[in-house]
Amino acid sequence: MKAFSTRGHAPALPIADAIVAGLAPDGGLYLPEAWPRFTPNAFDDDHRLAQVGLRLLHPFFAGGTLEQALPGICNSALDIDPPLVAFGQEGDFLLELFHGPTAAFKDYAARFLAGCLASLPRNETPLTILVATSGDTGAAVAAAFHDRPGFRVAILYPDGRVSPRQAHQLGSLGGNVRALRVDGSFDDCQRLAKTLLADAEFRRAVPMGTANSISLGRLLPQSAYYAHAALSHWRRTGRTLNFVVPTGNLGNALACLLARHMGMPIANIALASNANRVLPEFFAGAGYTPRPGIATLANAMDVGAPSNFERLQALHPDPAVLRATLRAESIDDDQIRAAIVRTLEKRGHVVCPHTACATAVLDGLRARGEAGDWAVVATAHPAKFPEVVEPLIGRTVSLPASLSSMLSRPSHAQPMANDADALRTALRIDADEPTC
Ligand SMILES: *Cc1c(COP(=O)(O)O)cnc(C)c1O
Repeated sequence: MKAFSTRGHAPALPIADAIVAGLAPDGGLYLPEAWPRFTPNAFDDDHRLAQVGLRLLHPFFAGGTLEQALPGICNSALDIDPPLVAFGQEGDFLLELFHGPTAAFKDYAARFLAGCLASLPRNETPLTILVATSGDTGAAVAAAFHDRPGFRVAILYPDGRVSPRQAHQLGSLGGNVRALRVDGSFDDCQRLAKTLLADAEFRRAVPMGTANSISLGRLLPQSAYYAHAALSHWRRTGRTLNFVVPTGNLGNALACLLARHMGMPIANIALASNANRVLPEFFAGAGYTPRPGIATLANAMDVGAPSNFERLQALHPDPAVLRATLRAESIDDDQIRAAIVRTLEKRGHVVCPHTACATAVLDGLRARGEAGDWAVVATAHPAKFPEVVEPLIGRTVSLPASLSSMLSRPSHAQPMANDADALRTALRIDADEPTC
């Protein structure tokens, strides 16, 4: 199948090529040109996430360069079936997407994308994956490419502006992953990465790729866990499942919408935003007015201009139709704190600040008499955010095994000036550098 650009000024490409490209040359985002439709019964033999993912995603890859590799990619990236657990109240569930290597849902998509890139033919020179991160997202990408032959990863992060635990995590992988702590802000890190990615001459010497969240290779696999959860609920109860999705750049929630579009037994989808209100305002009837992000306790959702809105608009050009597809609510920091406390008291679960936004939205829906079965999507393990969560609940949150082993390893980050030449020097390929 081919993918087209949302802006319509770039040629359609085979899906595999669109995954490599990331952003389209006209600045648009790629979308598949058609959507397969399934009935739930088509998945009767598929009980593992990897099986559901393979059946759901195969039509996109059929006849393309990744078709043969797809089963292996699904088996390794979608190896953890996300638990759908009872959430304190009849009809309420928690979909735990945080059991991967870095304890956040981004592990699924980052590992799928890494699997795709590793399955495509390449030349001898290693591909450098350059990521700028404000903490959480870089870790998933770095872990996904760690120890993969033919790749090296450079993570740029703002020195002193990520939590000590996040900094340790970013520097603890080692091997083909290099952490660069930049004397500047997150915006500076992003600007440095963009400058080098736009430098054609440098890219001839040091081939580079990106793994940022707008790649189709990250969007598509996220539909698999919604399909898996909704299908298992459907088989067990005969009922559709509704979802509340913590939302920043809108990738995870869009994947839920796409799973519904492909025929999965999903009913309503509610977006939970933090104090960045651009989506709740749009869905309440105002215009779409992107703006700079503001800092909140749910910092992985501090997005004022969600990049996937462009895909949503391309799928539903009529704003009235678009508004009918989803609902959205904004949860401020005080409500996040209250939801973390209430979720432990009333539901017996400790949730991260992002998940707490979704829990607060579900509490509001139930208080207004909303019926049906609802799943809150848990996007990260609460132990990733101890400085927010622990003072509120008055105890420590124990670390999942993946995080504690990462944190017990030594960590090293290289200091770097906020300067493109310093980054060029850091990225040059030395003959003696460790490869794997
Ligand atoms: C990235 C992230 C989100 C937001 O997901 P989007 O796909 O950007 O909407 C929510 N929670 C956590 C923990 C994240 O890391």
